[in-house]
Amino acid sequence: MKSVLIAPRKYIQGRGVLAELGGCLKLLGTKPLVLWDPCVKGIVGQTVAASVHRAGLEMVDVEFRGEATREERDRVTAIARDHGADVAVGVGGGKVLDVAKGVAVEAGLKMVTCPTIASNDSPTSAASVWYDADHRFIGFDCWPFNPDVVLVDTEVIAAGPVRAFVAGMGDALSTWIEAAAAYKSRAQNLAGGLPTMAALAIAELCYRTLLEHGLDAKRAVEQHVVTPTVEKVVEANVLLSGLGFESGGLATAHMIANLLSNVPECKDLMHGEKVGFGIVTQLCLDDDVDVDEVYAVVDFAIEIGLPVTLADVNLEGVSRDRLRRGRRSRGAGDGCGRASLPRLREIGDLCAGEGSLCHNHPFEVTSQAVVDAMVAADALGRERKGLSLD
Ligand SMILES: [Zn+2]
Repeated sequence: MKSVLIAPRKYIQGRGVLAELGGCLKLLGTKPLVLWDPCVKGIVGQTVAASVHRAGLEMVDVEFRGEATREERDRVTAIARDHGADVAVGVGGGKVLDVAKGVAVEAGLKMVTCPTIASNDSPTSAASVWYDADHRFIGFDCWPFNPDVVLVDTEVIAAGPVRAFVAGMGDALSTWIEAAAAYKSRAQNLAGGLPTMAALAIAELCYRTLLEHGLDAKRAVEQHVVTPTVEKVVEANVLLSGLGFESGGLATAHMIANLLSNVPECKDLMHGEKVGFGIVTQLCLDDDVDVDEVYAVVDFAIEIGLPVTLADVNLEGVSRDRLRRGRRSRGAGDGCGRASLPRLREIGDLCAGEGSLCHNHPFEVTSQAVVDAMVAADALGRERKGLSLD
């Protein structure tokens, strides 16, 4: 079995680096297509336009329609072809970047990502996550190449929403936990091989960086300032997590997060927030974890404000109902739980089903084991928060 590591060709991070975009694009083509939403354009539009203009390039300006659907990718691809664009540039959050990456592959263009929030590890990866028009997760594509340039302006990110920054830490916190689990089972990574030592070391560095600097960085971002810890955590959220998940491996934490995307109560949660609860679930599913380390992870998640209980992901009452059912005779569950309980069961069934990321563990994962792990995760989260376990 071979080992494979994939990565973007160039990664640039720092205060004000978005002003270098034009210079980067000039090395790749002559007619960049820039995809962004009106809000992001309002914030960084002048910087981007001035930079592209200074480089003497003609920009194709395309407004993102708000969801990472394959239809949106096809629409933007047609615009790229009509205008003869030769570079696809995504500016914004993960959904915009994922569509821009899809356009670059479909139309045969160079690929540049400029995340304006550090909320997930999409910017460096050769993958796009797809949703339908109703915001339901439908799957992901792995592309044959990673972005040519990833440009991460930490001043823009620190000026953005704290919630997005924390969600990014959730996505990044899972990287080592999942890669380590997947490595034990010799599962293939998204790059199509076993993880290299480099990928595992990067994933572990991501984890250690967050535990050491995450809280300081969050405090700085609350003040919208860039400090050395903000630089470190942005690198963890974007670069280390991106390389670590893609060339390391995924497991239960992301499977749970992906499935929660299709639960109506969870639709307003960010990806990394759902991963937060997925991490605690995976820690309760795994048969080979250090209890002190589990507590350290959950306490860190609570400190920075990541979801760790079912109530945190808007599913309050689900576990309590299940626990009551467990104490009562069969079929005596109360009315309000009947709608919720099958939902946990449904998640368990999909986790245990074919093609699930939960099979990237060195033990068999059953539907019941996943349901029990979610209930145990909720209890653990509530206990560490000092909440009642009734
Ligand atoms: Zn993720």
